[in-house]
Amino acid sequence: MRTTGADLYDVAVIGAGPTGLYAAFYAGMRNLRTLVLEALPRPGGQITALYPEKYIYDVGGYPAILGRDLVAELFKQASQFGADFRFNERVEALEVLEPGRLRLTTTEGVYLSRTAILCAGLGAFEPNRLTVPGAVELEGRGVHYAVRHREDFLGRRLLIVGGGDTAVDWALELHRWAREVTLIHRFDYFEAHARSVQALLESPVNVLTRHELKAVRGSDRVQEVVIYDNQSGAEKNLAIDDVLICIGLKPNLGPIQRWGLRLDGRHVLVNSRLETNLPGVYAAGDIAFQEGVEKMYLIACGFAQAALAVGYAARFIHPKARVFHGHSSQRKGMKYAPTPMGPTGKED
Ligand SMILES: Cc1cc2nc3c(=O)[nH]c(=O)nc-3n(C[C@H](O)[C@H](O)[C@H](O)COP(=O)(O)OP(=O)(O)OC[C@H]3O[C@@H](n4cnc5c(N)ncnc54)[C@H](O)[C@@H]3O)c2cc1C
Repeated sequence: MRTTGADLYDVAVIGAGPTGLYAAFYAGMRNLRTLVLEALPRPGGQITALYPEKYIYDVGGYPAILGRDLVAELFKQASQFGADFRFNERVEALEVLEPGRLRLTTTEGVYLSRTAILCAGLGAFEPNRLTVPGAVELEGRGVHYAVRHREDFLGRRLLIVGGGDTAVDWALELHRWAREVTLIHRFDYFEAHARSVQALLESPVNVLTRHELKAVRGSDRVQEVVIYDNQSGAEKNLAIDDVLICIGLKPNLGPIQRWGLRLDGRHVLVNSRLETNLPGVYAAGDIAFQEGVEKMYLIACGFAQAALAVGYAARFIHPKARVFHGHSSQRKGMKYAPTPMGPTGKED
């Protein structure tokens, strides 16, 4: 369990979707010591989980940008001021110890922060689970929904279920560690990046399309699986040590419901300053709902709210601080500032 002891962050951003990434960037611009806690292994929230390969057409300045490319740019922008990013850490509890001192307990540790900005979107994403016989009983004993350590699969016979990016990427990675990898997918096409699918088909992974899992067997741990061809119904038994199920994610507000926040359905209620009912706790993006204002689930709306929430958080920490601190174009020393050109057009 990681504890941060006396470390006190200025801002803890909960969620690294587009809103949380933009909040981390803005907090950095305001010289606030920033922590970002994200339940998933990667940044990007809904974009990464649900539509990395889709083009987005309504983010200012980008007539069209691939979801994954937008996330890469946002992460680059958000990382430049040294924010601490912690992935694979779901925030389980948020407590106000006293105004200006919050305790955040995650699945991995405990952190202290003066303020928090809740950018949790639809909630933490959880894996869709399979309920075929044996899958529930043997979860954690050979049936996995996430990879914690690649080494866990060293020398093992692994079955991967799924045909999206997660399943394909893990097959490509884990065949280097496992003794053998079989991937089954219920369709005859993949919902993953075309280049990854090509690499998969050229790899030693045994790929079976139009196949589904029927049962997982084993007394104490997984020993065998039954799979079937969903066209012919023909069944096959495979000797397997581990099953990795990657069949998508679903959002769940989960622990946030127990933090004492005022909620409206799956939203956290905020006022026009993005303040929740808890002192020093703000909300922005898809999760935030302002009474009397129509909700728009847009990346652009999350950006605007993130900037405003950071401004109010800065003023909460330093009561004389201005909410609007000026323009980035007037700020010196930005990491990605272009090299100044001399009068000859050459670099100074
Ligand atoms: C298919 C689809 C297409 C879309 N197309 C567009 C489009 O073209 N243009 C557009 O503007 N918008 C689009 N949207 C909407 C857009 O994706 C959302 O408005 C945006 O992702 C909201 O960002 P967010 O950061 O507020 O929340 P999210 O993207 O949901 O991110 C929230 C993050 O918080 C994390 N989290 C939640 N709870 C916890 C916790 N307890 N601890 C730690 N982490 C936690 C989650 O894991 C997640 O990563 C689309 C949405 C979908 C589903």
